[in-house]
Amino acid sequence: MVATPTQVLAEVFGYPAFRGDQQQIVEHVTAGGDAVVLMPTGGGKSICYQVPALCREGTGIVLSPLVALMHDQVAALQMVGVRAAALNAAMSFEERRSVEEAYAAGQLDLLYLAPERLSSPGTIELLRQSKIALFAIDEAHCVSQWGHDFRPDYLRLGALAVEWPDVPRIALTATATPATHREITERLHLEQAKHFVSSFDRPNIRYQIESKGQVRQQLTRFVRDQHAGEAGIVYALSRRKVEQTAGWLRDAGVDAVAYHAGLPAAERLAAQTRFLREDGVVVVATIAFGMGIDKPDVRFVAHIDLPKSVEGYYQETGRAGRDGDAAEAWMAYGLADVVQQRQLIEGGDGDEFAKRNQISHLNHMLELCEIVHCRRQYLLRYFGQELGEACGNCDVCLDPPKLWDATVPAQKLLSTVLRTYNERGGRTFAAGQHIDVLRGVGSERVTQLKLDELSTWGIGADLSVAQWRGVVRHLLATGQLESQGEWGVLAPTEASKPVLRGEQQVMMREEVVARAAGRSNAKKQAATADLTEAQAEVFEKLREWRLGEAREQGVPPYVVFGDATLRGLATHLPRDAEALLEISGIGQAKLERYGEAVLELLSASV
Ligand code: ADP
Ligand code: ZN
Repeated sequence: MVATPTQVLAEVFGYPAFRGDQQQIVEHVTAGGDAVVLMPTGGGKSICYQVPALCREGTGIVLSPLVALMHDQVAALQMVGVRAAALNAAMSFEERRSVEEAYAAGQLDLLYLAPERLSSPGTIELLRQSKIALFAIDEAHCVSQWGHDFRPDYLRLGALAVEWPDVPRIALTATATPATHREITERLHLEQAKHFVSSFDRPNIRYQIESKGQVRQQLTRFVRDQHAGEAGIVYALSRRKVEQTAGWLRDAGVDAVAYHAGLPAAERLAAQTRFLREDGVVVVATIAFGMGIDKPDVRFVAHIDLPKSVEGYYQETGRAGRDGDAAEAWMAYGLADVVQQRQLIEGGDGDEFAKRNQISHLNHMLELCEIVHCRRQYLLRYFGQELGEACGNCDVCLDPPKLWDATVPAQKLLSTVLRTYNERGGRTFAAGQHIDVLRGVGSERVTQLKLDELSTWGIGADLSVAQWRGVVRHLLATGQLESQGEWGVLAPTEASKPVLRGEQQVMMREEVVARAAGRSNAKKQAATADLTEAQAEVFEKLREWRLGEAREQGVPPYVVFGDATLRGLATHLPRDAEALLEISGIGQAKLERYGEAVLELLSASV
């Protein structure tokens, strides 16, 4: 009577095939092996332990630190007919007891626990009362010393191997670094485990980075015109900017809400709930938002301030497109961001070593912004993986930047900086003053400082302020200039010498602000992009129906059906139960629960 993994995948989850490494992992764990799984967000980690738990005798115990998510995960499993439950501190005594009884009676397929529960003897007692199919340790990087929210409770998980030596254990994480991988293996005593390291590529995410002009217009165009009616996250650095930006978007007719740590808890919760439970809500947030938010149909992530590191950028953009559908990561950045971030680091507390480290992280982020080759190749290499060919799905691949030989302007700028530096006894000025000197534009301050006496006065009148700012930014990004101190004054570096001597060429992207502003033919990437008009209409009707169902049951819409399933329905227009089962995301339980309603809706639409 025990089903095979492929049967479970099709009949319970309604998916026609495993993705990536899923099949090997599932087979290995089902056969009783231990596993360490490194897979990017959206890679489909849950299937890796849910399917083996259903194929093996007993209950699968899932240890997950994200208590807030358990409710939705359990609801989603129950919806497909899996006997799942969670135990957490928020439950009443009666609720807890009924779950414990169900477990002891062997009536659960999956039981979710927060890791800290394992430190209570009561939990261990309880677990002994029934047969365990496997232990799944989700977010396993929490055992790592360097994991951002280190959890001492995770260290106790190593003891599971002693108490239950024959129960397979599977540890899963989306954190890729070799150091974390090593720590997970050691601390959870998974030396005998098989390791599955997936590519960290997120091919469905399109990366776009443009330089900042009128950021309000740029953002509005991106959100309102290219992602109308879609859910997304906009990240900004300060609370003030978060509120201001949410205001702009609302003025532009976007359903936007603000989220930051300074808001009252109730308001934050309301914003998060709307984002999770309704379609097409845009959250404008500081980075505090997103940890532990498991919404598969986030269609875009936008950054209007420069993230502090490539790790941060990748983690934040990774929240888009977990369902595998097309999604976009968009960022606008400018010279002011670079200077601001530098100031934050210099002015922050922390020792010299910590500051150096932060600056090095920032410099990699800048490098990502300025590169003139495939962004994805850069990102993957940063995480130690290679992508053989350019990706074809980032701004550089899709619309190769026009390159501009900026060697001479760079020399002019560097020699202005060097001259002020040398002639003014090591004192120098911020970017704005240097640009004034180069363009020969006199301001009171410039005359006061006698900058118009410099020999580089007016030698760069041929370039616009925006172009000069671009040159400054590029040289900062490549380390040929340094911005120092509170005022962001520019200083020369060792690396500027080869440029000054004419031994090194400076190739940079043409300033694209103006061009980007006029870009209206950018390919729309909406969920309905590949649908005909008639199909899109059906999709919208299904979406409306789904929202009603979700509200009625108090679950997020994707728990009813994912966007991919709605798209499948809208394109194939199934007429009977058998045809419905062909659609990805519809298994037996969902067929029984929703089949009739969907068929009725579809037949009314054609
Ligand atoms: P992760 O935990 O790795 O971020 P999830 O387990 O939440 O990813 O899965 C991400 C999305 O992919 C979910 O919407 C899930 O239903 C879907 N998914 C997972 N495996 C498959 C598959 N084999 N076929 C189709 N969809 C899948
Ligand atoms: Zn690319």
